[in-house]
Amino acid sequence: MSSKMKFVDEELKRLKDEGLYVNIRVIESPQGPWVQIEGRRVLNLCSNNYLGLCSDPRLCAKAKEYIDKYGVGPGAVRTIAGTMSIHIELEKKLAAFKGAEAAIVVQSGFCANLSAIPPLVGKDDLIFSDELNHASIIDGCRLSRAEIVRYAHCDVKDLEAKLKEYAGRNCRKLIVTDGVFSMDGDIAPLPEIVDLADKYGAMVMVDDAHGEGVLGRGGRGIVDHFGLGDRVDVEVGTLSKAFGVVGGFVAGSASLVEYLRQKARPNLFSSALTVPDVAANIAAVDILEESDDLVKKLWENGNYLKQCLKERGFDIGRSQTPITPIMVGDANKAKEFSLKLFDEGIFIQSIAYPTVPLGKARLRAMVSAAHSRKDLDFAVDKFTKVGKVLGII
Ligand code: PMP
Repeated sequence: MSSKMKFVDEELKRLKDEGLYVNIRVIESPQGPWVQIEGRRVLNLCSNNYLGLCSDPRLCAKAKEYIDKYGVGPGAVRTIAGTMSIHIELEKKLAAFKGAEAAIVVQSGFCANLSAIPPLVGKDDLIFSDELNHASIIDGCRLSRAEIVRYAHCDVKDLEAKLKEYAGRNCRKLIVTDGVFSMDGDIAPLPEIVDLADKYGAMVMVDDAHGEGVLGRGGRGIVDHFGLGDRVDVEVGTLSKAFGVVGGFVAGSASLVEYLRQKARPNLFSSALTVPDVAANIAAVDILEESDDLVKKLWENGNYLKQCLKERGFDIGRSQTPITPIMVGDANKAKEFSLKLFDEGIFIQSIAYPTVPLGKARLRAMVSAAHSRKDLDFAVDKFTKVGKVLGII
């Protein structure tokens, strides 16, 4: 490597020395409650496959059916020749599921945030952003070139103080928040945020990546959970978590969606979702429309795991959802916890800075509707065994 690129190796070394280097495991099987890694079958507590749909035969069958009918590639960006009837079919189903007038589908949840924010606010405008918002919200905010005002996490008093401070500024204002915060599992105080938005004339956008398939009636998400109807202007979603596939979308009024079709750069300059992705997502929405059994099972599993870990003496933070953080603190210790659990047959990643604040390293258990009671009992026993060895409990 040439000397001008020396910083690359130096940075990699620094990450390793500080315990911040992510050891990326390779999955050799379909995603599911158990996966194969390095030839071994291990319990999977890492994936966002909340409802176990990643390898559901109904999604696979729909993908095969549509591949036979439509091929695989979209051919172009959507505004040139990449919008196929199946993209519209998925958008209609998603809008109906979310109770919104319309939806636009893009390549990922990350792209959905990059699609939604820059068209709404520009360099003379203001964004009020929760300090723990997801990286893709942060990047969407930065791309917009609006001034970003960060408010303390889920703190509506601080949000109001900031809105008041800038009340005299005559510009567009956007309040943006994650619905469910994925590292802690806590839920944004959306009803209070919407009230403040009305009071101070701000738009509201929520990223419901971890709320869809989890919160609300039949997993319709955070807006349904709080019964907020059309009081939230912009809903961003991902298709890569509960829906079990990949893709992202923005839902809202028909005119907002029409506007984003013309303005959102991931829609204008990056090719559309592939046929099997769209097909499998259509099957996933149909499953969610049909029954809430999977959503109920997910909550049962999450509550059970949290209760058992609490009884064994673990600090599981402040989660209000099935996301279960297991607080450790030190990044190297969290990593050791994860490695030792892997030896015991459990795949669970440690999460450290910059994904969570320094000194707040943890393991994060992601249960799925596909886990059985026996799987969760196995996990709790192994957590307890290794947690004792490491002095975590
Ligand atoms: N928003 C939030 C809150 C997320 O947690 C994630 C995924 N980590 C994303 C957006 C990005 O979604 P995707 O993986 O579909 O790009």
